[in-house]
Amino acid sequence: MGCIRNDNLPAGGPIAEVIVDVPVLGADKPYDYRIPPDLSGQVQPGSRVAVPFGPRKVQGYVINIKGKETHQGQLKHIEAVLDDQPPLTEELLALSEWMSEKYVCFRSTAIQAMLPSALKARTTKEVIESPSGEKQVVYEISDNVTARRVSYVTLLKEAKDVQRLLQELPKQALKQRAILGYLLEHEGKVMLTELLQACQASRSSVQSLQEKGIVTIATEEVERDPYAGRSFAKTDPLPLTPAQKEVFGHIIKAIEKEQFQTYLLHGVTGSGKTEVYLQAIAHVLKKGKEAIVLVPEISLTPQMVERFKGRFGDQVAVVHSRLSVGERYDTWRKIRNGQAKIVIGARSALFAPFERLGLIIIDEEHESSYKQEENPRYHARDVAIFRGQYHQAPVILGSATPSLESYARARKNVYTLLSLKERVHGRALPKVEVVDMRQELQSGNRTLFSRHLYQKIEERLEQKEQMVLFINRRGFSTFVMCRDCGFVLQCPHCDISLTYHKVNHTCRCHYCGHTERQLMRCPNCQSEHIRFFGTGTQKVEEALAQTFPGIRVIRMDVDTTRRKGAHEKLLHAFGQHKADCLLGTQMIAKGLDFDNVTLVGVIAADSMLHLPDFRAAERTFQLLTQVSGRAGRRQKPGEVVIQTYTPDHYSIQCASQHDYHTFYEQEMRYRFQKGYPPFYYLSLLLFSHPDLTYCIKAAEEAANWLKPRLSKQSQVLGPVAAPIPKIKDRYRYQCMIKYKNESQLSRLLMELLHYMQPHIAKYHLQLQIDMEPQVIL
Ligand code: ADP
Ligand code: ZN
Ligand code: ZN
Repeated sequence: MGCIRNDNLPAGGPIAEVIVDVPVLGADKPYDYRIPPDLSGQVQPGSRVAVPFGPRKVQGYVINIKGKETHQGQLKHIEAVLDDQPPLTEELLALSEWMSEKYVCFRSTAIQAMLPSALKARTTKEVIESPSGEKQVVYEISDNVTARRVSYVTLLKEAKDVQRLLQELPKQALKQRAILGYLLEHEGKVMLTELLQACQASRSSVQSLQEKGIVTIATEEVERDPYAGRSFAKTDPLPLTPAQKEVFGHIIKAIEKEQFQTYLLHGVTGSGKTEVYLQAIAHVLKKGKEAIVLVPEISLTPQMVERFKGRFGDQVAVVHSRLSVGERYDTWRKIRNGQAKIVIGARSALFAPFERLGLIIIDEEHESSYKQEENPRYHARDVAIFRGQYHQAPVILGSATPSLESYARARKNVYTLLSLKERVHGRALPKVEVVDMRQELQSGNRTLFSRHLYQKIEERLEQKEQMVLFINRRGFSTFVMCRDCGFVLQCPHCDISLTYHKVNHTCRCHYCGHTERQLMRCPNCQSEHIRFFGTGTQKVEEALAQTFPGIRVIRMDVDTTRRKGAHEKLLHAFGQHKADCLLGTQMIAKGLDFDNVTLVGVIAADSMLHLPDFRAAERTFQLLTQVSGRAGRRQKPGEVVIQTYTPDHYSIQCASQHDYHTFYEQEMRYRFQKGYPPFYYLSLLLFSHPDLTYCIKAAEEAANWLKPRLSKQSQVLGPVAAPIPKIKDRYRYQCMIKYKNESQLSRLLMELLHYMQPHIAKYHLQLQIDMEPQVIL
């Protein structure tokens, strides 16, 4: 898109402030560029532009335009505008500024998080020879992906005229005849490639028809729509239950009054939250406004997409991680140009460039996937609240198991609490039975299935009802251990256990991909009793086949769902009753709603309870509640069996009794005693470097700089080795800042980044700042 122009512009004229896409601390500020007269109409706040930066040419974003100020010294000028319509709105520009301050990240990083990756330009370097023979380096900026263009051939004559033309054409013009015939059969418009193939013709035949004025060839932009050709059964709003009506009334009032307000919708699984969302959105659309719906990971919840598409059809744009770059770009443009009114998607859908936003919904608000674990490390909840405030629109946080943080805020009236305490039409919550696996072992049962669960599975198979069996892969991965000496096979680069892969008998590191062949002898004691441990989905699948001959199992885990669309296919098959049992990991815990499922089994509930994370109990409670919610959602009552080695733990007890409040009280007491959120805030500094001593020294230097600058009540813990002390040959040390009130912390940490800059720039130290870590691992 244009190369460097050498013409000198006159001084004066408007100036654009540009954030350049150069992610280093020194460049994290607006730069002034002159707007050349021929671009003056196109350069707007939010425009994506190409600008010279040092010897390079880079992409940048215009954040402001200053009037005809005179400027000291020579200014470079903007060289090209990269889009027809500025990709960023004024609001998103303001949001990027807020994010860069709050999360201590570069402004350009915040902006990039808002745009589809197709708009991350590539800079290519090319050496050309000038007319005078000098070599010159030219930088070109090109988009990763552009709109997809397709050539169409269109017939310009009416059918009866074509019949006449066919007679007039010379006999030997066989291809031209074929082309006209084919066009007539296909309503006068066909893709060029299709036409040439169907008629075995060359482009020149079409061109000669074009020269005669009979057809025309034109390129058109076509949209890559991943849902094209799919039809969704149209649904109508259901008459709301009294409880739903009450909740709906509050939300509608805020929409009507155009009032920002954060609602925490605490509703048990199956209480009709989604129906409330759908009807609230219908109201927003009627007002000519737009809505964003976030779900934890959309490719895991195809049923949610179906419900939204079924109600609102083409007005719904779906954004998820499995879209191709092109599909994502087209979806984004559909939003930007106003074709789509509703966006449903995972975290990043929050940045949908709507200009008349009327409602934001975050479903399953407690999910950790709403926190981005790379820069910018934002939490969707906070960004949603920013956007809600900007547009004076309500924000709904929905969950059956709200995060402790959100529930505590609702208790303090920071959020407005709305509840749906019962399932729709009095359907019962499933009966949950907790089985003590220690007792099973004592009475000689060494299998994966307790006698109780065994019996329940048998019953379902007899009655031809379906079941969902759940295992928690995390903390229960298949690691390799020596039974004689306890040696555990670890990755030499990452200090975590390698995972055994049965398919090709290898052991692989899940962080860096390091792979080793299966060992026949223990490297430590030479014993032959070295083998893999743990309960993977494959192992449960085998055990099921052995114990219940003929059982039909659909397994859903990372291995069976790698291909695009695999999730949907497997779930669809299960919905069609093509299997008795759906067996899977976390990914089946969410959003499934099947008529015929009457049994949910949790193979081992405590694997997550013992992870070294203060949220372990909360996550266990949430997960168990979620999985239990998959049973008996329609007419048939459901049953749940939870197998565990710690049956008395309050998270397991409360989940089995569907008792959020008792869990909340108990967990809050623990958090208070230990000084964890929501009573304290935590921020995490992570240092990494290939040299251990250097890494520790740098971390200490930072901690020492920070300590005297914080208020007395705040603490800096560490530096200590991170839970994973080494990844990809870099050592990792961390400091935790624990505080109650530290309003200037972000600014202070930005100063710290500047202070540590020599280490970062010269000695390749990495310093990562996480203002609100969700997973402390
Ligand atoms: P949640 O989102 O709280 O899990 P859903 O909205 O999925 O709950 O509702 C659970 C089930 O009840 C769904 O099958 C849904 O179609 C049905 N449902 C929801 N609201 C109503 C209603 N007002 N009348 C009849 N059925 C309803
Ligand atoms: Zn050994
Ligand atoms: Zn590794």
